Amino acid sequence: MTKQIDLEIVKNSIRNIPDFPKPGIHFKDVSTSYQDGAIFGFIASEIYEHYKGVEITKVIGIESRGFILGSVLAYKLNAGFIPIRKPGKLPAEIYSQSYELEYGFDTLEIHRDALNADDVVLIHDDLLATGGTINAAIDLLRNFGVSKIYTNFFVELDFLKGIDRIDPTVETWSMIHF
Ligand code: AMP
Repeated sequence: MTKQIDLEIVKNSIRNIPDFPKPGIHFKDVSTSYQDGAIFGFIASEIYEHYKGVEITKVIGIESRGFILGSVLAYKLNAGFIPIRKPGKLPAEIYSQSYELEYGFDTLEIHRDALNADDVVLIHDDLLATGGTINAAIDLLRNFGVSKIYTNFFVELDFLKGIDRIDPTVETWSMIHF
């Protein structure tokens, strides 16, 4: 018999790891959701259903957990897949964007020939925390003159209010909220 999945089952499948990767951070481990075939399929289908009516031409995944569902969504939406990567990984000409972390800075990169101004773009990442990462990704897209941008997260940590840092013209939807 096929397992019936609902949002509560999905939410409970996310593993909490206290004090990882450093003290005070409560890490949401999504690998426990993705490792169950029925749950992984349900998550992918739900996110696909949300965007199937939008003419998405490119799905962007943020390294590295954003690649997992990002590529599935690109396939289902019949769109191209573009990776946004950590520094030094992309081999051709790139645009680069640095952003502030809790301690220090990080950088994201994208290939210069990855997008056109008329692309309709869906950026996917596994989780929205403070919003620093997604803001840097949106800033990277400004280099291409892209104006139609959607952002999607499997999980959003509401108490960190990352959503308040995302440009309000960018439509954002998260499947699971904590
Ligand atoms: P932020 O830039 O603060 O929105 O952080 C988002 C990025 O960091 C995502 O790519 C997440 O994978 C990762 N991340 C941040 N906080 C957590 C957390 N509590 N649990 C799991 N991943 C996290």
